[in-house]
Amino acid sequence: MFEQFPTLIENLLLGRSIERRLRFARRVPRWLIEKIQIAEFQETLARVNRHSSFYRERFQAAGLNPARLQKPADLGDFYTTADDLRAQPTEAFVCAPPQMGFETTGTTARNKRLYFSNEEVHDIGFEGATGLWNLGLRPDDRVVDAFDYAFWNAGVTLLHSLNAIGCFHVIASKLPPEDFYERIRDYQFNVLIVDTAWLVAFTEVAERRGVWPVKFILSGSENLSPATRAWAQRVWNAPVYQAYGQTESLGATGIECPAQKGYHLNEFNFIFELRDPNPEGYGELVYTTLVRKVMPLVRYRSNDITRFVDEPCGCPLSCMRRIDKIAGRADEIVSCGMGMISPWIFETWLGEVAGLADDWQIAVTSQGPRDRIELRLELSENTPRPPREIEAALTEKLERHFPYYFKNWKMGMYEIGFRFLPRGELRPGGPRRKLRRVTDERVPEAARSAVAGRP
Ligand SMILES: [Zn+2]
Repeated sequence: MFEQFPTLIENLLLGRSIERRLRFARRVPRWLIEKIQIAEFQETLARVNRHSSFYRERFQAAGLNPARLQKPADLGDFYTTADDLRAQPTEAFVCAPPQMGFETTGTTARNKRLYFSNEEVHDIGFEGATGLWNLGLRPDDRVVDAFDYAFWNAGVTLLHSLNAIGCFHVIASKLPPEDFYERIRDYQFNVLIVDTAWLVAFTEVAERRGVWPVKFILSGSENLSPATRAWAQRVWNAPVYQAYGQTESLGATGIECPAQKGYHLNEFNFIFELRDPNPEGYGELVYTTLVRKVMPLVRYRSNDITRFVDEPCGCPLSCMRRIDKIAGRADEIVSCGMGMISPWIFETWLGEVAGLADDWQIAVTSQGPRDRIELRLELSENTPRPPREIEAALTEKLERHFPYYFKNWKMGMYEIGFRFLPRGELRPGGPRRKLRRVTDERVPEAARSAVAGRP
C-alpha cells in the first residue's frame, strides 16, 4: 500500500499548496519517509528491469534479481556511473517516451544527456518551491533569474518553482555582470537567483555602484567559501543561500535552510547513500531516483564528496536529512568559477602549444572571493619560447576552443595564473610517478583522503 502514499498525500492531504506541504513536512515521521522510499525503490528497480536494456543486462551480468532486492545496500557494489551515461546510448536508460532533454557541460569530449517528461520537470520544480518558501519566498516578491539556460536544467526547473509560488519574475539569464546590473536596476528585484561564481563578479559591480533592498540571494551549482559568502552578505545586507544539484538529478537535490548549515536533501524524490565514508564521515554521495519514469537512475555515483550533518537546524524541513557542502570530487573533475573542469579540457587547451613540455598541473586555489586557476606548466628544453608569447597563445586558444570558459573568465568569474616551471619539476620522483592533473587546493583537510585518489 505504501507505493500509493505519495499520490494519496499529494492529492488528498496537500493538494498543490506549498504552505501546507511545508507544514506537513514538519510533522512527517522519519519512519514514514523511509517506508515510502523503500516501496518506491523497489518499484524503480522493477521498472528499470522491465524497460531499460542497460539495467536489465547489468542486473543479469551481476546475478541480481530485482524482485528479491529490498533496499539499496542489497545491490552490493552495483552502481551507475557517469561513464555508463557517456558510454551507452541514452536510449538504453530510457523507460518511457521523453519530452525534454538536458546536457551536462563539457568535462569530457562527450556530454551526458538526460531525458525527462514534462511532468517530471514540473514536479521537481514544485518540490524546489517548498525549499524556496522555507527561505522566505512569497507571492509578492520580485525575482530575477540569472541562470545560464543553454542545455541546462537549472533555469527551467526554477521557472516551475516560481510558477508554483506565483511571484513576479524575469528571466535575465547569465549576462555580463555590468550589463545585467544596468538592465535590472529599475525593477528593484528583492530576490536574486544566480550562479555562484557569477555572483562574485556581480557583487563587485554592486559594491561599486550601489545596492537596493534584497530579501535573499540564492546561488547554485558550486561552493561558496565562508569568507566570500560573508562578504557578499555584507555588501547586499541580505543572506546568501546555496542549493545543490546535478543535471543527472534534475537539480534541486538539496537546498539550504535559514540556518545555512548544510543542504536539506530531497528525500521525497531520491534515496541517498554515502559510498565508502572515511573515518571523518566523508564519502561519495550516491542516489537513486524514486519517482522518475522516463530515465530512472539506480545508485548513481554523483562523484561529489560530502558527509551527513546531524546538528539540528530547527527549520520545517528537519525531517529531511542534510549533507555538508561538497568537499570535492571523487574523480578529477572540479567545480569552480571556471565551470566544471577536468583534465580533458586542459589536455585540449595546453596540448601542442610550442614552448611547452608534456607535463602540466592545474591547481584550483582561492584568490580573495574568486577562484584562481593556476596553470603549472613545464617549459620545453627543445623549443624555448618566451613565457609571454606562450601566455598569448594560450589565451587565444582558450577563446577559440572553449568560448564558454573564456566568457566566464572575461566576466570576472575566475582568475588565470600562469606559473612556468623548469622541465621535471612536477614529477620530482621521475616520470613514473603519477601526476594528479587537476587538484583542488580549496578542499578542507578532513575531506582530503576521501577526495584524493578514489577508484
Ligand atoms: Zn533546516
